[in-house]
Amino acid sequence: MLKHDWKNFAGLQHAGALDSYIVSRRCFFMKAIERIAPDVGWLPISFVNAYFVGHHGGPWALIDSGLPGRATQILEAAEARFGGGSRPEAIYLTHGHFYHAGSACQLARRWEVPIFVHRMELPYVTGRSDYPPPDPTIGGAIAFLSRFMPYRARDLGERVRELPTGELLGLRDWKWLATPGHSPGHVSFFRASDGVLLAGDAFATMNMDSWTGLISARKELAPAGAPFNMDWEATRASVRKLAALHPSVVGCGHGIPMSDPALPERLERFAARLRPPRHGRYARRAAQVDEAGVVRLPPAPFDPVPIATVGALLLAGIALGSGYVEEQLRD
Ligand SMILES: [Zn+2]
Ligand SMILES: [Zn+2]
Repeated sequence: MLKHDWKNFAGLQHAGALDSYIVSRRCFFMKAIERIAPDVGWLPISFVNAYFVGHHGGPWALIDSGLPGRATQILEAAEARFGGGSRPEAIYLTHGHFYHAGSACQLARRWEVPIFVHRMELPYVTGRSDYPPPDPTIGGAIAFLSRFMPYRARDLGERVRELPTGELLGLRDWKWLATPGHSPGHVSFFRASDGVLLAGDAFATMNMDSWTGLISARKELAPAGAPFNMDWEATRASVRKLAALHPSVVGCGHGIPMSDPALPERLERFAARLRPPRHGRYARRAAQVDEAGVVRLPPAPFDPVPIATVGALLLAGIALGSGYVEEQLRD
């Protein structure tokens, strides 16, 4: 199917070009998917990560599904890793935010597999409730950008299931831990035998609050998508819970995975000093949620930026408009 797609690629007319195109695509994805533990592969998809767990020829699972419209990239990476026509046992989502669940529906249909999320995350991925809106007023790079990030309810289709409490399909020896705070039903995945932790957005291995951190993706333990954290006390408790596992390898939803010997100690220090922002919508009061979705939100703080943006657009519009009028007058 994938080769068929390549053959249909309109810009490639003769066989030589097609072959080199296929080879370069294969090489790109071979390079893009990286091993972070014996059977754990990491695939950065723009600024979010997906993880492939399992051996070639054996059962495997996908954890998080990247941005919308990236199903082909994930399929190709999966085929390069597990063999042509291979499909996972299941797709697991650490949470349902747009950038992590983006391609889940398309992949689940293509592979005919379930999408597992925590019970408390179900309302947001079955179209029943919007997420608590992000709080752009806490300051920082990702907070600024959060004004343009979607948080509305999405329906990932009929394949969505509640995470089971027992054995996990395709994830032998792994367990999930509830790590709410960033989102109501956020979960992390941990394998005790070798200490591999896939922590989603419980925290990040890059500083998303600084513009340089966001652009350089320099390795650093930091909050993940802080403007989305709808319950800071729960976020802190979740990070402490994960730090207590003393993981040897950490792969988060954002940033390059980490695995240095000092990692357990660094994570404990990070957990101990993590604080809510000084001000902001959820800094002191959490969004109230239940199994049907959002119940009550703290009031939205005043956000001057949209007004400044509207003002700038109006001014730009006036300037452009007057230029246009002048042009018309000259004609
Ligand atoms: Zn998130
Ligand atoms: Zn995220």
